[in-house]
Amino acid sequence: ATAAPLSRPIVVVNEITLRDLAGIPVGRLRGVGDKKRAALETLGIEHVLDLLTTYPRRWVDRTNEARIADLVAGEQALVLAAVRSVRKRPTRNRRTIVNVNVGDGTGRLDVVFFNQPWRERQLHEGLQIALFGKVDTYRNGLQMTNPIVDLIGDRTGKIVPIYPQSEKAQVSTWELATWVEEALRRTEPRGVADPVPAATVERLGLIGRGAALHAIHAPDTIRAKNAARRRLAFDELLRVQLVLVLRKRAIEREQRGIEHETGGDLRRRFGNALSYELTGAQSRVIEEISADLRAPHPMHRLLQGDVGSGKTVVAVATMLTAVDGGFQAALMAPTEVLAEQHAAGIRALVEGVSVPAADNLFGDRPLRIELLTNRVTGSERKDIMAGLADGGVDIVIGTHALIQDAVDFASLGVVVVDEQHRFGVEQRAALRDKAPDGRTPDMLVMTATPIPRTAAMTVYGDLDVSVLDEMPPGRTPVVTHWANGPLMESGVWVDVREQVAAGRQAYVVCPLIEESEKLEVASAEETHDRLVADELAGLRVGLLHGRMISAEKEAVMDRFRSGSIDVLVATTVIEVGVDVPNATVMVILDADRFGIAQLHPLRGRVGRGEHRSTCWLVTQLLETNNARVDALVDSTDGFELAEVDLELRGEGTLMSSAQKGRSDLKLASLRRDRELVALARDAAFEIVDHDPGLAHHRGLLDELDLLFSDRDEEFLTRG
Ligand code: ADP
Ligand code: MG
Repeated sequence: ATAAPLSRPIVVVNEITLRDLAGIPVGRLRGVGDKKRAALETLGIEHVLDLLTTYPRRWVDRTNEARIADLVAGEQALVLAAVRSVRKRPTRNRRTIVNVNVGDGTGRLDVVFFNQPWRERQLHEGLQIALFGKVDTYRNGLQMTNPIVDLIGDRTGKIVPIYPQSEKAQVSTWELATWVEEALRRTEPRGVADPVPAATVERLGLIGRGAALHAIHAPDTIRAKNAARRRLAFDELLRVQLVLVLRKRAIEREQRGIEHETGGDLRRRFGNALSYELTGAQSRVIEEISADLRAPHPMHRLLQGDVGSGKTVVAVATMLTAVDGGFQAALMAPTEVLAEQHAAGIRALVEGVSVPAADNLFGDRPLRIELLTNRVTGSERKDIMAGLADGGVDIVIGTHALIQDAVDFASLGVVVVDEQHRFGVEQRAALRDKAPDGRTPDMLVMTATPIPRTAAMTVYGDLDVSVLDEMPPGRTPVVTHWANGPLMESGVWVDVREQVAAGRQAYVVCPLIEESEKLEVASAEETHDRLVADELAGLRVGLLHGRMISAEKEAVMDRFRSGSIDVLVATTVIEVGVDVPNATVMVILDADRFGIAQLHPLRGRVGRGEHRSTCWLVTQLLETNNARVDALVDSTDGFELAEVDLELRGEGTLMSSAQKGRSDLKLASLRRDRELVALARDAAFEIVDHDPGLAHHRGLLDELDLLFSDRDEEFLTRG
């Protein structure tokens, strides 16, 4: 790279870097003896960097503090006081009550904790605590019930940081605060290095990193704390984005792709033969993909589209582009059922479309599409394998059987992977490596699990993303109802019977028991037997669950598909992809046990045909509203629901599954910090595109090296 306009001037002062901080054991701090060092170690705090990135989980703003004498019944208040007495006693129904009396020099206050027996051990006479809660009157006096309690110890200051505490570790929040303070004081003579380009910091209005570290731990005002949080969260997100963007660019640089022709005859014939107009979103996405296909570097694109948004046509257009240029295409699905369904659907879609072939007497030859799963055996399998190896097969659709060593392709040009969350990165790579001449096939990954944009940027940050955000016309959205309690549930079975009488079919999804598949199967069997004996007596009811062997499952699915079963009672095995247009009722039992991310695709199993469909979310009589059930009743838009889901759940699950091994986000939240994620991603592109090897951003490079595992940053050394 040439001059990098974004890089900082060479630093003369030897400022302290994160690596320096990671090299100082906490035992070097005053007050941290052997015992405390061991205690800190159990909290995962070994060196000063660990300590300084152990951020407060809360900040008590003493400027809002109330004196006990001024408390008003019925209002929320923050009180700082000393513990005067603690008493624990059992109640009649074997619960415990802990009564605590506190005082602050202006008066005394009674505090009551129900069902928190450990408060007796936590709170002892003389301890300084902050209490936050609603003040009530009780027997002529004032009282707080189950308030939030923070131990603040001897901390003064207007804003007191409260650190995560663990009773076992024997480290108090004020001890942590004291050590953090000392560590920060020791950084002062040299100052804290700030490796983020000054221009970026300035443009985004961020405060300096040293100032941020101070202000997150010992802020003067809540505003200062917020500014500090924003800066440090940005740094976390920037590092993640740098890793992703570096990887993306490294792959683009290193892998030689195929420059496909996208204006071929076959694709045009396919377009002309379609019985409907493409939606605007489909046309746009096909164009995005075509641009990738033409480019010299291989495509790595994620296609997100809700159930029913029409991903198949996009996949077929992509694959036919490869065939147009004399290449082969493969589509990989996560299960045999799905592979078979795809094969049937795609064959129907390209029915009658033939391949222009100049060397053929008749000018055309039929398109050859094959299905390859572990169920295809014997001479048929041999024949397909031979066709893949000599180029006779144009498109192959299959399961992971496709990536076995024995499968050779003559000229694999495009790979489509459906339902990406079931495949690992390694499996994708294995299929890509099937390209014979060192050229990497273009890859399209399809998922029906909508992921909010900013989350996608992080979880799939090394892929480009296309979104099908428009449904094909002429479909009636599924109407969703909440059936709360047995009375309403009986109405559900009436609806099922009516629909079956009208020639339609129904699914009944059994309660999810995440802890045990065995219990789940047992409960499905029970539900099945109960319905057969009672609510659905006389109907043809089938059972499908995860412990059946695949031949059994397939037999049941075939009978449901052909209409010889009216109602299919199933566990969540039907979650993905099963397509029976005649099914118009979806009943989900104990719906409150499922997450939005499960409920939405389940509901997507109906509403696939011309008939009006209904989804019933059945719960045992719930006393309060259920936010997830409400969201499903209110919306059928997968992306909207994904946002709600992220809101309700937090990003924990999302990150833990997809981000394993990457440096944690300690402050940043994909939910709260959407704007920062986007800014960090832009900044990462700007930095990497000016300085692909980070040669002029040594400080950043060093931080990635320090904070990310080898696997995460393997490309750093390659770049
Ligand atoms: P997905 O795989 O995204 O769930 P599919 O590709 O299976 O969706 O398409 C769902 C249904 O919509 C199919 O029956 C398909 O024929 C139909 N379809 C797809 N695109 C269009 C369109 N542009 N206009 C009308 N119907 C469409
Ligand atoms: Mg599909």
